[in-house]
Amino acid sequence: MQFSGKNVLITGASKSIGADIARVLAGYGLKVWINYRSKPELAENLKKEIEDKGGKAAIIAFDATNEEAFIEAIKVIVESDGELSYLVNNAGITNDKLALRMKTEEFMGVIDANLKSCFVGCREALKIMSKQRMGSVVNIASIIGERGNAGQTNYAASKGGMIAMSKSFAYEGAPRNVRFNCITPGFVQTDMTNELKEDVKESYMKNIPLGRFADGVEIANAVAFLLSDSASYITGEVLKVNGGLYM
Ligand code: NAP
Repeated sequence: MQFSGKNVLITGASKSIGADIARVLAGYGLKVWINYRSKPELAENLKKEIEDKGGKAAIIAFDATNEEAFIEAIKVIVESDGELSYLVNNAGITNDKLALRMKTEEFMGVIDANLKSCFVGCREALKIMSKQRMGSVVNIASIIGERGNAGQTNYAASKGGMIAMSKSFAYEGAPRNVRFNCITPGFVQTDMTNELKEDVKESYMKNIPLGRFADGVEIANAVAFLLSDSASYITGEVLKVNGGLYM
């Protein structure tokens, strides 16, 4: 795959899916900006791992829900590298509870963390990328944003919102050669899914045609494709990476 840009910011990249995205994109020669919020040692280890393999990496700490911090981070990257070629909005949280017991603050907390942070990232990227007349953004939504799930009204709303919002950004970015797409992973083996009870995991697994959870690298490969020049005519798209769970 070819990349005409040179760098990428990945939010929530110190571990799990975000870290795999960083590894894969560094393997394609991009300088990866590893964003973390709370665990500097994980970000440092990942940076070292990438550099040991001959890749380029830098660390940028900020909480993606903090608008000013997100804006400042993008400014720092552009000052350092002269451009922001790609952005992956990956940082995300869950706070599951049946809707009848969910407080409005618990609903809004997940909307803020997942949807609002993604909006700020897309908007700031669009400003820079419009001037560059090139750029590509991939937002990590979820199968839950496509089909809903009991106990996840907040998460489903945030991820469904990311899908609709990305399509709207795609319209606004297209005249300036800036593309916006979403990946909707099914179940991926990470800390987020490790929180599920074993019997729940097994019942999910039974319904997945490919019979297993995804590895983070399988999500990262799809991200790389959508960011790359190989996807130069793809915008406003939602790429399901779910083992056939929702077709
Ligand atoms: P994870 O293991 O919980 O890791 C999430 C990462 O995001 C962590 O590095 C975390 O950093 C970071 N993060 C969370 N909130 C942040 C914030 N406000 N600012 C900066 N970083 C923040 O999650 P994951 O499973 O890799 O999920 C990654 C993305 O894929 C999420 O958007 C998730 O919704 C989506 N997804 C996951 C699955 C799945 O099965 N795992 C399925 C569909 C979609 P800290 O540790 O410092 O908080």
